[in-house]
This record gives sequence, structure tokens and C-alpha cells, in this order.
Amino acid sequence: MLHVAFLGPRNLVKSTLTKKDFERVYALLDYPALGGGTDCGALCGSLCCQEYEPGVGMYLLPGEEVMFTGREPWLRWSYKAAKHSGFPGTWKGLIAFVECSATCPRERRPIQCRTFPLMPYLDREDKLSVRLDTLMGSLVCPLVRRADEHPLDPEFSRRALLAWRILASDPTIRQDIEGQSRMLDKDQAAPWRRLLGLF
Ligand code: SF4
Ligand code: SF4
Repeated sequence: MLHVAFLGPRNLVKSTLTKKDFERVYALLDYPALGGGTDCGALCGSLCCQEYEPGVGMYLLPGEEVMFTGREPWLRWSYKAAKHSGFPGTWKGLIAFVECSATCPRERRPIQCRTFPLMPYLDREDKLSVRLDTLMGSLVCPLVRRADEHPLDPEFSRRALLAWRILASDPTIRQDIEGQSRMLDKDQAAPWRRLLGLF
């Protein structure tokens, strides 16, 4: 099939990753979070994958645009200044933001949708792991809220770590992982978690 190159703005935040790297990441993350062929969307009505309010969507990672044509009918594209969107101050330029006007074909989902409910985590010694994304998932995702009842398939976790190792080899993306990890540290120590009985 003819793949028409993505034509985004020139001043997108760039990464050093190639299309081949992103293809490997997509293939690694093309795996269900729960074992036994269970569709986790059945637990929650696919809460993390629907336009539950106008304007919700997903940021692509720097360079991830190579996986799209920019004309996917299920996505609405816009570009946000990285510095006003919670990304590291060192990121100069724009980041692609896709609003979900319909559900993505499974094999075309962006990385942040594939990796959820896991997120990458860099500890203070710069060691990479993956953790449950309590920043985004504590209130919406049963796999995060009731992790004991719904353990993730270890193969999903293994693949997620391999995928994030590839992504974290890019210094720009690594900076964001570090920022998110410190936010996670802070969030997990927050008093409101104990008050609500969340870990
Ligand atoms: S990852 Fe969590 S919120 Fe998303 S569909 Fe699965 S159970 Fe629902
Ligand atoms: S998979 Fe697609 S439709 Fe679902 S949340 Fe991600 S971008 Fe939106």
C-alpha cells in the first residue's frame, strides 16, 4: 500500500529515532495487557479509549509522526507548544496532539495508548523500569485501581520495558521520562492518596 509521508509543521520537536525504531516499538506494544485473551476494555467500557469529553486526545512522542500520514479519518490533528504542555523545558517547538474522533484501528494506536496502563520509570540511579501509571490511571483504569484483582500479563510488561528501552535511547524522550518519573514519585507520596485509600 502506498504510504504518503506525514506533512506536519517544520518546528516539531525531533527525536533521533528512526521509522524502523518506531515500527519495532509498535510491534512490541501490539499485545494485550491481560492474559488469556481477556479484553480489558470489557472491564470499563474502554474508558481510556473514547472521546468521553470534547477535546480529549493523546500527544504523540517526538518523531512518532512517521507512523502516520496525517490524514487518518479517526484522528483530528493539532500542534501544541511543548513548553505550554507540561513537557521538559528543554523541548523547543511543537508536539503533535491527536484528538480521537473515532476509535483507532488497533494496529494504528499511538504509543501512549498502547503502553497504558504502564508508564516508563527512571529511578534516581537512571535505571529504567515500567510501572503502573497511577498518574493517569488511578481514577479511571480498573487495572490500576484494582491491580491485585487484574494482574497484567508478564509478557505485556516485558514487551513494554523493551519498547521503552528503545524509546529512552533518545535523549529528548528520556528527559520526559525522567520528568514523569519525578511526578510519579511526588504523586505517590501525596496525602490525598492515603485519604482515598489509594496506594
Ligand atoms: S487500559 Fe484500563 S481504562 Fe483502558 S480499556 Fe483497559 S481497563 Fe479500561
Ligand atoms: S487508541 Fe486512538 S481512539 Fe483510543 S485513546 Fe488512543 S488515540 Fe484515542
